[in-house]
Amino acid sequence: MTERDPQPSAASEPIPLIDLAAQHEALASELRQAFERVLASGSFILGPEVSAFEQEIAGYIGVPHALGVSSGTDALLLALMALGIGPGDEVIVPAFSFFATAGCVARLGARPVFADIESDSFNLDLEQAAKRVSPRSKAIIPVHLYGQLCDPAALRALGLPIVEDAAQALGAGRAEQQAGTLGEFGCFSFFPTKNLGALGDAGLLTTRDAELAKRARLLRAHGAEPKYHHALIGGNFRLDALQAAFLRAKLPSLPAWNAARRANAARYDQLFAAAALPDELLRTPAELQPGHIYHQYVIRTPPRAALQAHLREQRIGSEVYYPVPLHLQACFAYLGEGPGSHPRAERAALEALALPIYPELSAAQLERVASIVVDFLRKRT
Ligand SMILES: *Cc1c(COP(=O)(O)O)cnc(C)c1O
Repeated sequence: MTERDPQPSAASEPIPLIDLAAQHEALASELRQAFERVLASGSFILGPEVSAFEQEIAGYIGVPHALGVSSGTDALLLALMALGIGPGDEVIVPAFSFFATAGCVARLGARPVFADIESDSFNLDLEQAAKRVSPRSKAIIPVHLYGQLCDPAALRALGLPIVEDAAQALGAGRAEQQAGTLGEFGCFSFFPTKNLGALGDAGLLTTRDAELAKRARLLRAHGAEPKYHHALIGGNFRLDALQAAFLRAKLPSLPAWNAARRANAARYDQLFAAAALPDELLRTPAELQPGHIYHQYVIRTPPRAALQAHLREQRIGSEVYYPVPLHLQACFAYLGEGPGSHPRAERAALEALALPIYPELSAAQLERVASIVVDFLRKRT
């Protein structure tokens, strides 16, 4: 053995919240081939690459109709447009989610009606949602937040058309209860940091209903049929061929990535359980429905700001999803749902903290994150 410079200690290396470079390095030749194929084809918007992707992902999800669209946000907007939602209508949404869940409702002139989340999972509390149903309710948007399905039976029992915000849940659930198959529409995002990420913006709309699929397909391209003849007012919600090709290169890896995320979550759960910290300091994510895919591993910790600052000092990535509940966003002040309206959502906004959970995270890295969190919180007992 020759003498080498000492390796920088692994203990001091930064651990990001997500490492896309590692993912793309492993698939570099597939991604380059995808690019070359599209470049040579001369077909850049929709076309055979998008159709092939739609078929492959429909097969993966187990749904008859899948439409590639421009983003997860546009999938939600298109779903609501296809259901004919507009002024005078109400749509029930959780008070705690990414902005697009409620923004899309308001953009169509309809009213987002917020309902609080569960105390253990971060998903819509369907008893709270039931209380907000009115004769004007035209749909409900359950969000499978962080990769965990909302309870499908309880959801259907509300009797409203269901538009799933499954942006964080591709591959979540099992068999007949797969995200994207529960109701009228399923909406997915391929934002680069999602479990399946494009190299840009991209999304997907799924449905089991052939008529709704047809309507959404028309609305995806200005409602034109035939070309330049418009019976419906749609938009430009089309998916690029290039993004479809990149997504086709990545899709076969998704089951293994999701399994790695689940394994990482199980390891965190084990390490945090062994630390036996009081609930007032640390609550690990509750798994209430089968097939959580851990888009994020989100702990609840009241001393969040201090813990996050400490993690930042140690160069460990973490993120707050989301710091402001939807009903308290300035743009929704006109709805009059002030502080105290949805206490669990408000509490989650103060306590939720996402830790690194990405598939390429090594066992040693994960253990280091867990021990830094535990050591920090233990000092506060
Ligand atoms: C990412 C996300 C969206 C929006 O998806 P984009 O592709 O970024 O438009 C919507 N809802 C939730 C819950 C998301 O996480």
